[in-house]
Amino acid sequence: MGKTKNICILGSTGSIGKNSLEVIARFPELFRPASLTTNSNIDLLEQQIARFKPQRVGVLNESAASELKKRLNGSVEMFCGAEGLQELARAEETDILINSLVGFAGLKPTIEAIKKGKTVALANKETLVVAGELITALIQKHHATLIPIDSEHSAILQCLAGENPEHISRLMLTASGGPFLHLDNAAFETISVEAALQHPNWNMGNKITIDSATLMNKGLEVIEAHWLFNLPLEKIEVVIHPQSIIHSMVEFIDGSVKAQLGIPDMKLPIQYALTYPERLSAPHPRIDFVKLREMTFFAPDTEKFPCLRLAYDAMRKGGTAPAIMNAANEIAVELFLKKRIGFTQIPRLIEQALEAIPVHPVASLESVIEADSTARKFVLSSFNSPRL
Ligand code: MG
Repeated sequence: MGKTKNICILGSTGSIGKNSLEVIARFPELFRPASLTTNSNIDLLEQQIARFKPQRVGVLNESAASELKKRLNGSVEMFCGAEGLQELARAEETDILINSLVGFAGLKPTIEAIKKGKTVALANKETLVVAGELITALIQKHHATLIPIDSEHSAILQCLAGENPEHISRLMLTASGGPFLHLDNAAFETISVEAALQHPNWNMGNKITIDSATLMNKGLEVIEAHWLFNLPLEKIEVVIHPQSIIHSMVEFIDGSVKAQLGIPDMKLPIQYALTYPERLSAPHPRIDFVKLREMTFFAPDTEKFPCLRLAYDAMRKGGTAPAIMNAANEIAVELFLKKRIGFTQIPRLIEQALEAIPVHPVASLESVIEADSTARKFVLSSFNSPRL
């Protein structure tokens, strides 16, 4: 597969980042973990520096950055703040950017890497949700490559290998349904943070785990799929599949369906993103179909999980509506994690933000940034209103 590629991992101390380092460590001739970054987990970053020997590291949080600077004492080149992370993303030395930042913060580094024509392995789905139109135009202009790490989109990419995109009749994104799939509607008001953080199949960061519990994660993924595979929303469906063995499916115009299956482990889609379109042998656990015995499927219940409907609505509105929805969701999830609001207030706050904030066309990055900050302020100022 040619020369050793320098990998920059934004968010190397998070769940995707740690899995990415494990994958990279399997193929030292092919991949070098050249730059690693964290928000503020400098203890883990320090351990990663000792083990993986990156040439450069970045720390987003300023006080954590100055603490690490003292500890490293000049032994590794350091970059600080949001600007430092962007510098690492666009650096000459970076061949592949793994963007596993959480939320809107992932947008600018993605843009920086695309502008340099790099390959971006994207785990930050919010990038495409808020600015899909801008990102797809930039990819074409700069001949960059965007490969999804999200397991559903990796599945679709794998199903589409060798296929003519014009032959797709629909995509079916699978969803585990999260921990509250079978919970009675009346009990949703009293869902605790602790219960929402228990995901049945996937071990992930807090934000995405809550998004999975509300099904907003699937809503974000529908929008992500729309931009990645250039398909209208009518051709993108969601099916609940609690075992998380089928990671998504593509139906073609002749009625044939292709699915990608695997034991739920993010190392598989991460490795595929790094080796795409090749495959390399890996020790991932294999499916034992006889032990598995059955796979089940349900339609999603948008009464219990309004976030999924809100995501489709926002995408149909278009323009800055998905950015407003995403920002409102980020703040609502933060408030829920801090136990300031209840679980059912998350969709209510998003719906209110979408109703109250005017939607504009996405003319530039600035229009997205403005919609994002307006929605954040709106949710922060209205979350304790009695109307909720
Ligand atoms: Mg996913």
